[in-house]
Amino acid sequence: MKKETILKNKIAVLPKDLHKTEEVTFPTSENNPKWTIEDSIKAYGVNIWGADFFTLNSKGHVEITPQGAEGPHLNLYKIITELGKQNTRLPVLIRFPDIIHSQMNKLVTCFNQAIQEYGYQGRYQGVFPIKVNQQSYVIKDIIKSGGPYGFGLEVGSKPELLIALALLDEPDRIIICNGFKDTEYIQTALLSLKAGMRIFIVVERLEELKIILQIAQTLKVKPNIGFRIKLNTQGNGKWMESSGFKSKFGLTASEIVQGVEILKEYSSLENLNLLHFHIGSQVPSIHPIKSAIREAARIMTELYSFGVQIEYMDVGGGLGVDYDGSGQSHSSTNYSTQEYVNDIVYHLQSICDENNSPHPHIISESGRFLVAHSSLLVFNVMNANLIEKKLDSDFLLEAGSDKTTIKEKFQIEPNTHAFVKDLYEIYKGLKKNPVSESFNDLIEKKKDIHQLFIYGVLSLKEAALAENIYCMAASRLKSLTEGKEDYEEIFQALTDELSDIYFSNFSVFQSLPDSWALGHMFPIMPIHRLDEKPERRASLADLTCDSDGKIAHFMNYDLWKNEKHLMVHPLQKGNPYYMAAFLTGAYQEILGDMHNLFGDTDAIHVSISKNGNYSVDHHVEGDSIYDMLKYVGYHKRDLMEKIHQKTEAAVLNEKLSREEAGRLLKNYSQALSGYTYLAE
Ligand SMILES: *Cc1c(COP(=O)(O)O)cnc(C)c1O
Repeated sequence: MKKETILKNKIAVLPKDLHKTEEVTFPTSENNPKWTIEDSIKAYGVNIWGADFFTLNSKGHVEITPQGAEGPHLNLYKIITELGKQNTRLPVLIRFPDIIHSQMNKLVTCFNQAIQEYGYQGRYQGVFPIKVNQQSYVIKDIIKSGGPYGFGLEVGSKPELLIALALLDEPDRIIICNGFKDTEYIQTALLSLKAGMRIFIVVERLEELKIILQIAQTLKVKPNIGFRIKLNTQGNGKWMESSGFKSKFGLTASEIVQGVEILKEYSSLENLNLLHFHIGSQVPSIHPIKSAIREAARIMTELYSFGVQIEYMDVGGGLGVDYDGSGQSHSSTNYSTQEYVNDIVYHLQSICDENNSPHPHIISESGRFLVAHSSLLVFNVMNANLIEKKLDSDFLLEAGSDKTTIKEKFQIEPNTHAFVKDLYEIYKGLKKNPVSESFNDLIEKKKDIHQLFIYGVLSLKEAALAENIYCMAASRLKSLTEGKEDYEEIFQALTDELSDIYFSNFSVFQSLPDSWALGHMFPIMPIHRLDEKPERRASLADLTCDSDGKIAHFMNYDLWKNEKHLMVHPLQKGNPYYMAAFLTGAYQEILGDMHNLFGDTDAIHVSISKNGNYSVDHHVEGDSIYDMLKYVGYHKRDLMEKIHQKTEAAVLNEKLSREEAGRLLKNYSQALSGYTYLAE
């Protein structure tokens, strides 16, 4: 206690002395303007990617507004601490079905508004592409929320078809069948159509058409046929391969003409009633959307002149989500939902009108837009690798001429190697020497010292000493260059070098696969302590022992650029530090893999209760260690048997006591049924 007081006094006095030699003031709580919630909102871009759903409260906690900014606010930190008391494990995926409902309402409202404004003659009809999130509770929520809007489902494979057939109850809700199909797929779809369901089969390859027509003839059912068209327009996102002449899906112009001939042969021209295209997911810019809809509309009006009246134009997915707010990256969009919708309605209408063709109903298959915001992953930081040194005590003691203390700390002996002594001199000279000179000397000396160690000249102890001095010097230099325009580059280089590593309790491969595979940007930030200045900068390392298992790109909203580290708070002993990755509701769960045998996380569904508080509707337990081992072919009985044999042998050889053997067996069997992630 006493020691601390002395130290504080020293710090309070010292800046004045330093002021004389150089224009530097040390940040203390007195001269550091107070960090506010608004500062955190800006630093983490919450107002930018948070849309209508995420904000911060005055306590410095993240709040969720699943029904939009005007609706009830849920305190995420409170939810996590309360559920922690109920033994909810971390990491945990939290889903907010109300957010899906809000997004669906927004999409439908935008379409209805455009339809009304332009006097468009057709209706809007949404379908949810199951591949974006197949989890049963998510699909059930979508079906429930979609009731008032008659929302349907889009399937791209046989397993997805089986989900849609079983779950969609009202016969007026549409099922769109995309993807490559075999006879069994087509027969199942046509029999379900005959049973009264509204099923459209979209022809991806011409060969499918004949099979559909033949089976329909034998079943005596009128099929609803759609053509997927291969547009020349390409999306410009990361997923742009879904379109363009060489894309794997859809019919070219000549195949469409052949298709019409085949339909005529079977006297089935009137059964072609839908056109579909999909230019790829997360389309970042509005231009390809415009040209795609114009190209598709032209094909439709040409078909009309052949006597084919297309009832539905299915514009596919692609409506993007603004993950980083930049408006110019693959993780962003440069258009609003209303602009996207307006463009579709406007261009479709104008091409129809130019060609005297009736307006079709519009179907869209927006998946990412509906579900991305609806889930987030909360995880805790286990510990940190701190590289940047705290300056207050260490440096100021030295500057306060308490030389013995600093000497002891660094243990510079008379026989310490000259290069290490040089490094120490650079460190001591930081106050008076020009910044760029010091920086260059420091980097140079670090390289030399590294070489000397490799050649066996320096001992490990000396190398360790040099490392410490280097980190101190770099930290000090960083604080000297902060906020100085002339030294921006040096400051950035030092910031990158000195950023911490926060070891986090999750797996990138399981929970954020697109971050690993595609460099996709998800908003990530602490969910509490946001009324405190995040004094440190860190990249995040996950639990896997893969060097790719990390997150080292974040949006710096002050500079609008992608940086390798995130502003974070120093960890406090005894207080958990919770962070969350947001906007993880689309694609991440099913693409996630089991690297290092980290399994599915627990998932909970949180909705707004009647009194404006929250209720947990479902708690879906993640994989146990045994679930993972079973998946790769191990069996519990064999594993236990082997461990029994080994412990028994150890007891016989007097390496373990009976009691220790018992403990090992108990641990082993408990771990088997436990979570794959780390306990807090
Ligand atoms: C993946 C896919 C979608 C969904 O796209 P989003 O960009 O998530 O809206 C829609 N339609 C088809 C055919 C797809 O393959």
